Amino acid sequence: GHELGGRYEIITRIGGGGMALVYKAHDILLNRKVAVKILRQQFVHDEEFIRRFRREAQSAAALSHPNVVSIYDVGQEDETHYIVMEYVEGQNLNEIIQERAPLQVDEAIRFASQICDALEHAHHNQIIHRDIKPHNILIGKNGRVKVTDFGIARAVTSSTITQTGSVVGSVHYFSPEHAKGINTGEKSDLYSLGIVIYQMLTGKLPFLGESPISVALKHLQETFEEPRIINPYIPQSVENIILRAMRKNPNERYASADEMLRDLETCLKPERLKEPKATFN
Ligand code: ATP
Ligand code: MG
Ligand code: MG
Repeated sequence: GHELGGRYEIITRIGGGGMALVYKAHDILLNRKVAVKILRQQFVHDEEFIRRFRREAQSAAALSHPNVVSIYDVGQEDETHYIVMEYVEGQNLNEIIQERAPLQVDEAIRFASQICDALEHAHHNQIIHRDIKPHNILIGKNGRVKVTDFGIARAVTSSTITQTGSVVGSVHYFSPEHAKGINTGEKSDLYSLGIVIYQMLTGKLPFLGESPISVALKHLQETFEEPRIINPYIPQSVENIILRAMRKNPNERYASADEMLRDLETCLKPERLKEPKATFN
């Protein structure tokens, strides 16, 4: 068969969306499995899409962290533009949520802590992910989290609006300021992580609507059902983290991923997970 770049043997398709397709492949040179993300054929003559695809690889490649998918290689062969990355054997978090949410509190907090650790690392390197959602969180068989898809990640200084003027990302996980198309910084990622934790622990999204615009408006204006009303097994300390991350005013959220991670790790201590209703002597 044909080997991409003289090196990668495509095995099977494992995912992909509007812009790219993702395949499991075999790296013949290093004799290991890899994931290869390929820019869709309809975009290969569009310089802007090719630039965006390269920027995705560059953002992810700027990071080196156990909870961020590693980039191994990028290349182009004729019209095929590709990114080669670490293959994560397991499921994405969306599949896990669809299969068995609400998750156990300790499992959800272990996932959240690892996502938050990846965000801390990205933010320290001036990269905002901007598309934190369960589809972009890969879970290895060992429960190790790997954040992927830096397709719309940005350097801290630039704005949310793409060159074409459209707001990008997944509306269900948008922060209010992202929905307005302004001022997305580190705290937008923390809001999205708050929604992901909400969804892991309740099995529901806080805001649903008929159209992307109606969902965006809810992020801006509406309150949501408190997680403990839906799932009473959620400890108060964990609900507090979700509510703090999901504050509409970014100034009222965690100041940084570091601060949110500290709170998540406190909840991981076994004695805090089983909060007694009362204390008996
Ligand atoms: P598009 O940009 O066109 O929307 P996408 O950015 O959504 O595509 P990804 O989010 O990178 O593509 O990947 C889509 C899916 O492919 C993931 O949800 C996951 O199931 C699978 N996948 C992606 N990368 C890997 C990987 N490195 N290892 C294993 N599975 C992966
Ligand atoms: Mg994706
Ligand atoms: Mg993407």
